[in-house]
Amino acid sequence: MYPESIALKERRLLVIRWSDGQQMQYPAGLLRRECPCAHCLERREPPPGQLPILQPEEARPVEITSVQPVGNYAYNIQFSDGHTTGIYTLEYLRRLGRGDPTGSGS
Ligand SMILES: [Zn+2]
Repeated sequence: MYPESIALKERRLLVIRWSDGQQMQYPAGLLRRECPCAHCLERREPPPGQLPILQPEEARPVEITSVQPVGNYAYNIQFSDGHTTGIYTLEYLRRLGRGDPTGSGS
């Protein structure tokens, strides 16, 4: 599965049309929240007994400032809050777009 086209609308919505004809939309806030980088994963899964901390920049609407291919399997998506380390694999983007966090079934 690979993107046939990828477009950014108003810096707030990423639209990917996949090779199977499915078109999926990814709001900037969703992508930022689901950022798969090590830093964000750690923040979303804090030590037992602690809760995730809401950073000031997360309370503001975020925009997508850059979408760059990484090799032939992923995209690096950068955000207006200065976060630039998220690498979103095609597989991960497919799961996000379908709204199925487990990715079970195929
Ligand atoms: Zn991140």
